[in-house]
Amino acid sequence: MATPLDDNLKAANTLLARFRNAPLPHWINGAPHAGHSALTFDNLTPIDNSLIGTVAAGNAEDVDLACRAAQAAFPAWRDMPGDARKALLHKVADAIEARARDIALVESYDCGQALRFMSKAAVRGAENFRFFADRAPGARDGQSLPADEHINYSLRQPIGPVGVITPWNTPFMLSTWKIAPALAAGCTVVHKPAEWSPLSAMLLAEIAHEAGLPPGVWNVVQGLGEDAGKPLTEHPAIKAVAFVGESITGSHIMRQGAATLKRVHFELGGKNPVIVFDDADLERALDAVVFMIYSLNGERCTSSSRLLVQASIAPAFIEKLQARIARLKVGHPLDPATEIGPLVHRRHYDKVCSYFDIAREDGARIAAGGKRAAVNDSGNYVEPTLFVDASNRMRIAQEEIFGPVLTAITFKDEAEALALANDIPYGLTAYVWTGDVGRSHRLARALDAGMVWVNSENNRHLPTPFGGMKASGIGRDGGDYSFEFYMETKNVCVALGSHAIPKLGA
Ligand code: NAD
Repeated sequence: MATPLDDNLKAANTLLARFRNAPLPHWINGAPHAGHSALTFDNLTPIDNSLIGTVAAGNAEDVDLACRAAQAAFPAWRDMPGDARKALLHKVADAIEARARDIALVESYDCGQALRFMSKAAVRGAENFRFFADRAPGARDGQSLPADEHINYSLRQPIGPVGVITPWNTPFMLSTWKIAPALAAGCTVVHKPAEWSPLSAMLLAEIAHEAGLPPGVWNVVQGLGEDAGKPLTEHPAIKAVAFVGESITGSHIMRQGAATLKRVHFELGGKNPVIVFDDADLERALDAVVFMIYSLNGERCTSSSRLLVQASIAPAFIEKLQARIARLKVGHPLDPATEIGPLVHRRHYDKVCSYFDIAREDGARIAAGGKRAAVNDSGNYVEPTLFVDASNRMRIAQEEIFGPVLTAITFKDEAEALALANDIPYGLTAYVWTGDVGRSHRLARALDAGMVWVNSENNRHLPTPFGGMKASGIGRDGGDYSFEFYMETKNVCVALGSHAIPKLGA
């Protein structure tokens, strides 16, 4: 009898057939485009490192074509009434919902994230479109700022064609998080997806096209960062770059965009603390700690990869943690029972595994995992891992590992917890578990993090600001914050009467 995994694999293989037969093209001006060079790169599945298919390796010429298409499409898209843009973006959301299962299957196969999470991510992609679609008609609204003899009012207008550059962890959801507000604002888009997860970007652009988005409004150029991403950040037609990825790539992009004075929005790396005090609801804290590092393979910018646990409860808490880790199910990403799938790429797997030796060299102890997971011989599977007896100065506490790997550190009191939490170059999120209301607010105020969750895992509400401090980013997404980035604010000042104008040479 066929298992759910068999059924999912069969469905995935049907969907993937088209990607196996011909190189995955770019999407430019409303149609597939093979690219100016015949160069391609291989796209492997992390399930067993077999070839899914090849992908057009975009270059500066392809990027130029896409940027010119976005530039040509911009005036009409900008001038489309907000209600019409709203209706179109809702159609995109409808189409994403209708194909959510296909998207999730392709995404899981391409990047190794477990289907249980990718199914939700696909639906969240549709929600992102609906949320910003509803705000499209009001995106231009500004403020009324009256003065004594003048009336001032502000309005917003879309900045122009924008570049969107995305990473390989949850690529579909993340792309919609950037592209939906850009389109709602009236910008046109050139998207450069990550080379390790190119497939869902193509599905998304096709879906949008079928939903009626005009040609040129949304373009996709596949390719490597240096060859396709870099020219996008340098192109004069592109007015702003929204980038999600590593902190070091963010600084390259800032440099690359300097000559054309690009506006940039960066969502970068993290090494986020979860602080567990002895007065917390420890069962709920345990659920959240496990979820926030071992879901999405730990390949998650908001993962709580540093556990700061109060010394008085540390032994008991760590013991319970070990028991939960031992029961986590590592397996084929298309198996509905799987909780941890294979890591996206062999190079990333090697990087994550290198920290097992680094932990030992630093003097930490591996209390769970620390080796390859025995799922098959060829995929990128690692065991969920826990490092204990660690200090905050160790590399395992300071560097973003971006895998299912947790570093636990103990602290004595609130002051030490805060000092440890902030002693890091990153500042994306922090999670606080305590029963003391005053303490939760004191810490929320003092933590260097763009987002603080108290007695909660990462729980998103789309109007709220999303983004990081320090090396974790520049700018905020969500609600009106997204429009602040994709739009110019203009002030208009009109004299109410005959106020005194300074007279020179009179
Ligand atoms: P990456 O920086 O290596 O690549 C991201 C994208 O940038 C890819 O599309 C890549 O091709 C492109 N790129 C690379 N070099 C470029 C260049 N010189 N110019 C223009 N584009 C270039 O990141 P990754 O390894 O794909 O993703 C993992 C990282 O993303 C982690 O650090 C993670 O924390 C971060 N991330 C952050 C958030 C957030 O919201 N803060 C969300 C998801 C992921």
